[in-house]
Amino acid sequence: MNNFDYAAPRSEEQLLALLSPELGHTELLAGGTDLIGLMKKMVIQPQRVVNLMEVDSLRRLGPDEEGNLWIGATVHLDELLSIPYMENYPAVVQAIRGINSMQLQAQGTIGGDICVRPRCWFFRNGHGLLAQGGKLAMEGDNRHHAILGNEGAAKFVSATRIGPALIALNAHMRIIGPTVEDEQIISVADFYRIPRHERERETILSPGQVVTHFILPPVGQATNATYEVRHGEGPDYPLAAASANLEFDGHVVRRATVVMGQVAPTPWISHEAEAALVGRPVTPETADEAGQAAVAQARPLSHNGYKMQLAKTAVKRAILRAAGLETGGF
Ligand SMILES: Cc1cc2nc3c(=O)[nH]c(=O)nc-3n(C[C@H](O)[C@H](O)[C@H](O)COP(=O)(O)OP(=O)(O)OC[C@H]3O[C@@H](n4cnc5c(N)ncnc54)[C@H](O)[C@@H]3O)c2cc1C
Repeated sequence: MNNFDYAAPRSEEQLLALLSPELGHTELLAGGTDLIGLMKKMVIQPQRVVNLMEVDSLRRLGPDEEGNLWIGATVHLDELLSIPYMENYPAVVQAIRGINSMQLQAQGTIGGDICVRPRCWFFRNGHGLLAQGGKLAMEGDNRHHAILGNEGAAKFVSATRIGPALIALNAHMRIIGPTVEDEQIISVADFYRIPRHERERETILSPGQVVTHFILPPVGQATNATYEVRHGEGPDYPLAAASANLEFDGHVVRRATVVMGQVAPTPWISHEAEAALVGRPVTPETADEAGQAAVAQARPLSHNGYKMQLAKTAVKRAILRAAGLETGGF
């Protein structure tokens, strides 16, 4: 690891004053479970590391007057497993439980999960975010790479586990910087992007900006769930995942949001799956059709065709789980 400056600001103002406008100069440290590994491997080599954990406002956790739940970016994942506010957001709770490691849940933060760097062994071994314009992933071992949104150079998958759930729930996020006057609330769905070149990262966050809070709207009558297809029960990333948020008119779906994880360079909203559900009741058959629709446009690479079936299953089972119809098994 290279030498670097270290700072632990206590206020948002102090924090912003420490950030550099230059990409890669300064990195933000939350729980450090991902960042430190990337630094040790010298995949990223910041000149300054700014610890977010001492900034009080980033630890906010509770509802506002309109019933929105505010979650500060440095709230630890295991805190979210133990508070009653989360009862209405099983999609988030199930995604956190899926991490399946008390250590990672206790150390990792929600901001760190949402901003976690992509899952791609070429990137994580120093070949750049796009791994030579996508060439390494096209020609090499791409079994964990994208099956959707992979037409350009980016072939990695977005590693966030909670992102699909937050998007399905229509959550927003607060971003501050680069100056203290700059504050914006954006939809989590608008946070991610597919980078086109090595000077772009996988989110819209620019070097002088920080994510401070997530804002979950009240769920009303809607029901939500996440389903992950995992290789095993250890602390490993899912092979495919999906979150669903459903609103019903009687037994018929009035509105559906289905967001897939681990299949594309961003959490992937499947409008096809949504269209397959709206106006119909949720049954194993309609959920299966929604799963099929979700992967109809997918284009697997040479070694990840197996993900088609897993992604389809994740969508189907997230929908059934959200509708309270989970039966277990595949
Ligand atoms: C052994 C091991 C296994 C893991 N397994 C899993 C797994 O199964 N599933 C999984 O999802 N993750 C896994 N991870 C990755 C990671 O632990 C989690 O994603 C965790 O939630 C990251 O949170 P953190 O607070 O530790 O993030 P950090 O490592 O501190 O930060 C992660 C990234 O987010 C940026 N960041 C953090 N907070 C902010 C903010 N507020 N604003 C802007 N940028 C920010 C950091 O600069 C960094 O780039 C694993 C990590 C390890 C070491």
